Amino acid sequence: MMPACPTCKAPVSSPDRVYKVVVEPEQGERGVVQRDVGMFRCPRCDATFPRVLGRVHYLLVPDTEFKRLKKEAEENKAKAADLDVTVEALRKEKLEREEALTQQLRDKVIAGLESELGQLEKHVEHLREERDRLQHEVAVP
Ligand SMILES: [Zn+2]
Repeated sequence: MMPACPTCKAPVSSPDRVYKVVVEPEQGERGVVQRDVGMFRCPRCDATFPRVLGRVHYLLVPDTEFKRLKKEAEENKAKAADLDVTVEALRKEKLEREEALTQQLRDKVIAGLESELGQLEKHVEHLREERDRLQHEVAVP
């Protein structure tokens, strides 16, 4: 946008001279900032006035680079946290699976023992009947 003369408001198309000026960084800027300051001369009233031109030169770390690095660091931190959560979830899942497997195995062993016990009980019952029958046979002459 073309600057206007502060005295008579006439638009001034281009500066007579451009100076590079080191200025304090504005909010959101990092490091020392160098700006182009144009010295304008009004063609109507001959007043001279300075205007900061659009271009900004960063003498130290450019703000965009600083933001990029900061964002990258934050992303890495988030990724590491995600990884921690994933590892923790996997560890938990593994433990649960092991527990489930152990439980399954235990259930199978118990089922097997119960079945064996059932067989033994039947066998014992059979032997008892046999004994009773034999005793009965012996008792009767
Ligand atoms: Zn003027």
